[in-house]
Amino acid sequence: MYAELIGKQRKYFEQGETHELTFRIKQLKQLKKAIKEHEHELIEALHKDLNKSEEEAFLTEIGPLYQEIKHTINHLPKWMKPKRVKTAISHIGSRGVIYSEPRGVTLIIAPWNYPVQLAFAPLIGAIAGGNCAVIKPSELTPNTSKIVRIIIEKYFPEEYIAVKEGAVETSKQLLEQRFDYIFFTGSVAVGKVVMEQAAKQLIPVTLELGGKSPVVIDKSARLDLAAKRIAWGKFLNAGQTCVAPDYALVHEDVKDLFISLLKKQIDLLFREKVESQLYPRVVSERHFNRLLTFLEEGDVIKGGTYNREQLTISPTLLENVNWDQAIMNEEIFGPILPIFTFDQVEEVIPIIRERANPLAFYVFAEDRAVQDLLIKNLSFGGGCINDTIMHLATPHLPFGGKGESGIGAYHGYESFAAFTHNKSILKQTTRFDLPLRYKPDLKLLRKVFR
Ligand code: NAD
Repeated sequence: MYAELIGKQRKYFEQGETHELTFRIKQLKQLKKAIKEHEHELIEALHKDLNKSEEEAFLTEIGPLYQEIKHTINHLPKWMKPKRVKTAISHIGSRGVIYSEPRGVTLIIAPWNYPVQLAFAPLIGAIAGGNCAVIKPSELTPNTSKIVRIIIEKYFPEEYIAVKEGAVETSKQLLEQRFDYIFFTGSVAVGKVVMEQAAKQLIPVTLELGGKSPVVIDKSARLDLAAKRIAWGKFLNAGQTCVAPDYALVHEDVKDLFISLLKKQIDLLFREKVESQLYPRVVSERHFNRLLTFLEEGDVIKGGTYNREQLTISPTLLENVNWDQAIMNEEIFGPILPIFTFDQVEEVIPIIRERANPLAFYVFAEDRAVQDLLIKNLSFGGGCINDTIMHLATPHLPFGGKGESGIGAYHGYESFAAFTHNKSILKQTTRFDLPLRYKPDLKLLRKVFR
């Protein structure tokens, strides 16, 4: 079904226009212009789909795209330059050069939780890398996906960039095509399906997945700031953020104070929004029902109220949760934060190691030894010391998971790297021809390869 489109894109790609620096810069500017001109519609669609406020939509979906485009335009000339590298002693006379070659025709599959950002941020990488692209946005945010398609259709020809709306079936059909690269953002379960499909044709993939991201609050932490930054990072977008803190581990000595500060911050940041129905909704009834069952799995010490018609759940804190309950065995992805305690900071290491590598990890501590201990001994995609989520929003840090939370990374230079292939070329001299390889002298060889 999509073979014709992919064929068209391949033909266009092979004409070479997308490879040129000037073309790529022009298209990045065009993308920025397109988003700017349709900002209002995007914000409106995000409101319809997820009840996101204008401020939240701009802060988390649109603003970061402008920043990423600007950064990419500024650095692209340098990134695209062939890189000269040293030669080995065995290769005297030659030079090494690495060319960043576009991958070709690429597929971007996006999720629903940040449906604008997560469709367009990979596209910035695709354009910067000199590729053609097909975007498959999420069916769970139909209003936003429609605007994404309208924007792309208006500003880019189909043989260069296309959007194909649809659900699982569309995704499956696209995955049968012969793409040169697949960039997938979504759940671990679907990530496995994508990789399996890609493997059949040996198509390289980047998988931006999810998981359970812990936050540790040490007794040395600035508790007021920790409470504020955790409340913001957890309950933004009703907890439907891949890097939202999934559960909290707090030192026994400061637990009561931390919880009271956290409750205060939840009220300051979200109470008005919840009361005036401006708090983001849970994306679907199925997701909503799943979250309601979690409310039964511990003692609610804050929030726990919900509105079935609006699909909203107020920011909720849970205590006395068992590790073997469902809530601790899947990504929560909603506005519910279970809180656990520890006596010695070392105790959190086996607790976290026992589970799959998280996408993010956060530690709040003033004590440098505690920060170092946890950052060095735990394995995870990325994270913050004394903050949440913010590591994802800068083009200067590669963003991605490890193990179950993903393969590969993007943002800034890493997006360009993800969407290009390192083509290594050895430029050999013709001025002389060393005889060693033709008539190997073992004594000399042993000296060369010491
Ligand atoms: P999802 O995996 O259900 O869907 C993602 C995309 O895959 C959608 O476009 C969907 O249509 C498609 N899809 C669904 N089932 C498919 C199948 N069987 N075969 C092929 N395609 C299929 O994810 P979601 O519910 O949209 O998003 C939530 C998940 O995404 C969470 O786990 C979250 O942590 C993760 N996420 C990760 C990041 C990141 O950057 N690492 C960002 C946002 C969300």
